[in-house]
Amino acid sequence: MSASNPQMKAYIQAADAVIREHAEEVAALDQAIGDGDHVANLQRGLAALETVAEELERMDWSAAFQKIGMSLMRSVGGASGSLYGTFFLAMSKAMKNKDMNLPNLADAFGQGVEAMKQRGKADLGEKTMLDVLIPVANALRQAAQESWDLAKTLETLNQVAEAGCESTRDMIATKGRASFLGERARGHIDAGARTSQLIIGAITDIVTKNSPAA
Ligand code: ADP
Ligand code: MG
Repeated sequence: MSASNPQMKAYIQAADAVIREHAEEVAALDQAIGDGDHVANLQRGLAALETVAEELERMDWSAAFQKIGMSLMRSVGGASGSLYGTFFLAMSKAMKNKDMNLPNLADAFGQGVEAMKQRGKADLGEKTMLDVLIPVANALRQAAQESWDLAKTLETLNQVAEAGCESTRDMIATKGRASFLGERARGHIDAGARTSQLIIGAITDIVTKNSPAA
């Protein structure tokens, strides 16, 4: 079992960069149907992760996911902080004594999404980040079961994340602050779905660039 993951800092920096690049857009999305703080919440979380990035690189995946979950819970706050925290703590539990590979990642990601669903009592179609994360979890599971190659896996993950994000536009929200708006939430993409999709895109980009075939 590998006791380090040297890409961790690059992943965190890429997530931070893509969120910074889209900060105004995301702020506007959350202003339209939430309370406007989502991008600031997330940026606080990513800044906290940057301060521990080198430490994370020396840990195995399970320990790193645990530290990420605890840091996010503490630094992000609000509804999304506990949801992100729950996601990474469940990933940590699933990765205990396991190597990082597609089947193990698919299993851990699935457990993370399951834990988030339970924590927020939400599911697909409620105009949240789960509309990105659930399709991504399903695609990862399918990729593992059918032994897809890396290129097909990464491309599909991006596609389902983008489609999932876009799917929130026409939904009404039944969970979170946007649910107070009823029909008025229709026509706006969910901010948390957009940031999840942006981060998944940034991380798959790095994996693509670092893959031997690239
Ligand atoms: P807060 O709602 O406390 O202001 P943020 O603004 O940081 O927190 O995050 C809002 C995002 O959290 C929403 O855009 C949505 O994607 C996500 N969200 C809210 N409630 C839930 C839930 N029950 N399950 C999953 N995601 C949720
Ligand atoms: Mg908010």
